[in-house]
Amino acid sequence: MSDMTDDCLFCKIIAGEIPSNKVYSDDDVYAFYDINPAAPQHILIIPKKHLTDITSATNEDQALIGKLLLKANEIAREQGLVENGFRYVINTGKDGGQTVYHLHLHILGGRALNWPPG
Ligand code: 5GP
Ligand code: ZN
Repeated sequence: MSDMTDDCLFCKIIAGEIPSNKVYSDDDVYAFYDINPAAPQHILIIPKKHLTDITSATNEDQALIGKLLLKANEIAREQGLVENGFRYVINTGKDGGQTVYHLHLHILGGRALNWPPG
């Protein structure tokens, strides 16, 4: 691993160095419950490959990003979120409210969500 990933909270979660409540895992992606839920159901799904944010993805990551979204769909379905609806969020950079610099897709549901965000 590079120095960057050695210092990354979500890389440590993937490695099992920091505990998390797993929802799903395979060779490419990992999903777990957010420690500070912003909605009754709040799951994070991340690529196991360290990507700092969504803008760090390149053509090489096309299949990985597609898989991330399709697995998120499976999780949303399994969690019973599809009937009433839910929201995917990818906070990006300072103004986007990103606090952990390892790409993650928020899956938020279980209540009506406000729009636009504050
Ligand atoms: P961001 O603000 O970067 O879009 O989202 C980061 C998310 O990671 C936040 O919702 C925050 O609650 C969650 N988070 C931060 N640290 C941990 C942790 O150690 N474990 C888990 N499960 N979630 C975390
Ligand atoms: Zn990382």
